[in-house]
Amino acid sequence: MYRTHTCGELTGKHIGEKVTLAGWIDARRDHGNLIFLDVRDRWGKTQLVFNPDDSRDLHAAAEKLRSEYVVRVEGVVDKRPQGTANPKLSTGEIEVRVSALELLNASKTPPFEILDESDVSEEVRLKYRYLDLRRAPMLKRLGLRHQITQIVRRYFDGHQFIEIETPILTKSTPEGARDFLVPSRLSAGCFYALPQSPQLFKQMLMVAGADRYFQLARCFRDEDFRADRQLEHTQIDVEMSFVTEEDVMSELEGLLIEIMHKVKGIKLQLPLKRLSYQDAMNTYGSDKPDLRFGVELKDVTAILKNTDLKIFQSVIQAKGVIKGLSISGQEFSRSDLDHLVTLVKENGAQGLAWLKVTAEGLESPIAKLITNEQRKELVKTFGTKPGDTLFFVADQWSTCVKALGVLRNRLAERLNLARRDEFKFLWVVDFPLFEWNDEEKRFDSLHHPFTAPKPEDLKYFDSEPLAIHARAYDLVLNGTEIGGGSIRIHQRDVQNQVFRALGISQAEVQEKFGFLLDALAYGAPPHGGIALGLDRLCAILAGVDSIREVIAFPKTQKGVCLMTEAPSKVYPKQLKELSIQVKT
Ligand code: ASP
Repeated sequence: MYRTHTCGELTGKHIGEKVTLAGWIDARRDHGNLIFLDVRDRWGKTQLVFNPDDSRDLHAAAEKLRSEYVVRVEGVVDKRPQGTANPKLSTGEIEVRVSALELLNASKTPPFEILDESDVSEEVRLKYRYLDLRRAPMLKRLGLRHQITQIVRRYFDGHQFIEIETPILTKSTPEGARDFLVPSRLSAGCFYALPQSPQLFKQMLMVAGADRYFQLARCFRDEDFRADRQLEHTQIDVEMSFVTEEDVMSELEGLLIEIMHKVKGIKLQLPLKRLSYQDAMNTYGSDKPDLRFGVELKDVTAILKNTDLKIFQSVIQAKGVIKGLSISGQEFSRSDLDHLVTLVKENGAQGLAWLKVTAEGLESPIAKLITNEQRKELVKTFGTKPGDTLFFVADQWSTCVKALGVLRNRLAERLNLARRDEFKFLWVVDFPLFEWNDEEKRFDSLHHPFTAPKPEDLKYFDSEPLAIHARAYDLVLNGTEIGGGSIRIHQRDVQNQVFRALGISQAEVQEKFGFLLDALAYGAPPHGGIALGLDRLCAILAGVDSIREVIAFPKTQKGVCLMTEAPSKVYPKQLKELSIQVKT
């Protein structure tokens, strides 16, 4: 037996017992004659004592031990001397008086110390990920991820779902990103696509009668790196037959209750808040609003429409709106305000007006254009008091709310309005089915092309496609979209109608989605589902900013694995077998 206990297990209860431990040398302290070493494993650290009076040889051997050497020790558990206990450590009451030592492996001096808190650059951490993961907070996060996946598996198993694996080598499933392609050796010149999601397979499983499916599914999307994304991510993927939106949402709420309770000890209040897409955009300027803070957008078009300001006038003539938000408790310097103006312009708006409310009146370049009456109305609308600052954007509705939404988030971040230990979930519903892609002059699906339209909106297909609502729902947590799903189209003619509206030719439909249309013609049941982003959920619950902190071996922002150095060149022979020529 390598060990009798883990390094995080021994307490006062074990005093007097003979034990064997195995692990890594963590820290070393020499006190006069005595050598103290901590030995560490996934469960914690235990203090070892080497006393030359017990054994000169052992003491000499301990002197040679360095950080990260792997050892196995035998000894007796002792109470630490009076005043030396460490209450921060689970094993802080005891130490092991070593009677035998075996060096299992030596270690080079690591490029960084294995400490809980570390300011080592992320490049170095990722290159030596196996050392980075040795740090207690990292192992703890892997443990948290495991805990969540086990809750997921138990929950769905208990609710009559079955876990089914779907292929990785497959055909393109459009989720709005570029596909990763894998060349086929056996069919020269042909390619598999890695799945952007198991979407079509889970729908096939519903046609097959599987009825309730889930999978912890790896999804691959060849995206240009925006913020916090990875080329591959994991989804908690779910599909159900004979269900409505309510059924899918309440099934998921049940899962969230379990996760929040078991992982965070939080009792989630049901049902979760719901907002329509329109209300979310109008009130928070985002379809994934962070509800940990208020700072709501208010429409002030009626109040400011007569202001003698050209930009306001021209926006109103073009049927635009003026909306604003109010911020308390922050003094904005001129350069702060300039930065915010730039931010809003970068997000498409023509400009940002601001008004500082002081006890004496308003302070702003446009203050003299605001009448007393308007000032009173503004103060009333926002509940503003002296010291607050008001911000306004005048533009077309969609540009206006989106720009203010970005501003709202930026201000909240600066002022620390959101608490990390607060968890605000909400559903966003009633999305439009399509959005207009102005660059390519066509409609795109807001979710994916298999999302069902609301039946009452089918009449708008030819006249006003943008007025069609989708039977879709997104799950948002603390300003992050952590999931999304929909009731699917289960009728072939409706699916064809959507493909037509998206401008996909009949030939392309046949080539790409022929199997889906075929399957829908063989008695497809009404069905719907959802997918939750496991990485994001774990990151939020772990209280970290980046999903890379909850993925064992993530890639950099450039899609590179610094540890294995993937992607890498391959041998010409391999390319030849694949009938591929590389031009670089
Ligand atoms: N397949 C969708 C996605 O990956 C989720 C769903 O509709 O179930 O976003």
